[in-house]
Amino acid sequence: MTTDTKSTGGDVRLTGISKTYGSFTAVHPLELTIPQGSFFALLGASGCGKTTTLRMIAGLEDPTTGTVHLGERDVTDLPPYKRPVNTVFQSYALFPHLSIYENVAFGLRRRGVKSVKKQVGDMLELVQLGDRAQQRPHQLSGGQQQRVAVARALINHPQVLLLDEPLGALDLKLRRQMQLELKRIQTEVGITFVHVTHDQEEAMTMADQVAVMNGGRVEQLGAPADLYENPQTTFVANFLGTSNLIPAEIVEGASEDLVVSAGGGKLRLPAGRCQASTAAGGRLLVGVRPEKISLVHADDAGTIPDGRNRLTGTITASSFIGVSTQYVVDGPAGSGLQVYEQNVERDSRLAPGAEVVLHWNPAHTFGLGADQAID
Ligand code: ATP
Repeated sequence: MTTDTKSTGGDVRLTGISKTYGSFTAVHPLELTIPQGSFFALLGASGCGKTTTLRMIAGLEDPTTGTVHLGERDVTDLPPYKRPVNTVFQSYALFPHLSIYENVAFGLRRRGVKSVKKQVGDMLELVQLGDRAQQRPHQLSGGQQQRVAVARALINHPQVLLLDEPLGALDLKLRRQMQLELKRIQTEVGITFVHVTHDQEEAMTMADQVAVMNGGRVEQLGAPADLYENPQTTFVANFLGTSNLIPAEIVEGASEDLVVSAGGGKLRLPAGRCQASTAAGGRLLVGVRPEKISLVHADDAGTIPDGRNRLTGTITASSFIGVSTQYVVDGPAGSGLQVYEQNVERDSRLAPGAEVVLHWNPAHTFGLGADQAID
């Protein structure tokens, strides 16, 4: 730990917060608690209301209804500069004529702090730019400039750092490096980071908790693995990766392990992973993530262990992507089912046209309401 930025102050609590513009509702009344010290992501497609939510926390936007609390303190009516909050934007917004050192020192000097050397030095060390102090922003890469922006935003020890698509301007490789870098910085300073992004991989890599937003509402809130493994809506299932949703009907309900008919076969579905009605005759969608599925040639179906869920189909495409082989399979369950298999030897890769059996542990099956639209 190179700085004394670690702070207390409590959770960020949004209570009934909403925003309307004329007759358009950008954010519907929202209840959200962002735990102190967490890395929290607001994730969603363009226009879902995530930036508006962030700006209401910052004080840059007045909520139409509701309150914003930081710990016990109601900050709803405070202007941005009086909130213990700072924001990092995609555009960096560094002062081009000032050195990196002076950019970072800016907030301290504005507050009239005389002796800034140690604090600025520590902050530059935190973002690993100690050796660039005397350079100008244009001499740094995009990722380095963004780190200066983070250092500048942290220098006044905010209780919460808000990040609005901070990596949006970076290329993919740099973006991935910066994701890890921001995560490291957050862990080191220990304050709450609220990060807005439309990139599901970014949210999943960095955040302790993710709120998935859609149409001005939070569709689901949870830890990344939980959202991925237990999506509660088709929107979340499809937004966070591929979900292979298949229309199904419950054949045997009211037990811990439901049996559904789907894709010309019978599949088992743990009742605890079903968000739809579990009564016999109920219609739903069942899903399974591509990497949970194994695939064998139909001639080898006898090698599949008992108790696995199975579906048959024909490979329509296969491609090799790094360590995984990606298959697309059409069959009675529908077209375009995706299967990712790791470490497939080149000689044993199956080619388009092969008749196959897909199989997986039933515990990885999830069920969603059939009335939800498939995106
Ligand atoms: P993006 O990633 O594109 O910024 P977002 O999820 O952050 O999307 P917001 O910027 O929060 O979305 O905007 C939510 C909705 O509110 C959008 O439909 C947007 O057009 C609308 N909106 C935002 N600001 C205003 C405004 N000042 N006046 C009218 N409508 C607005």
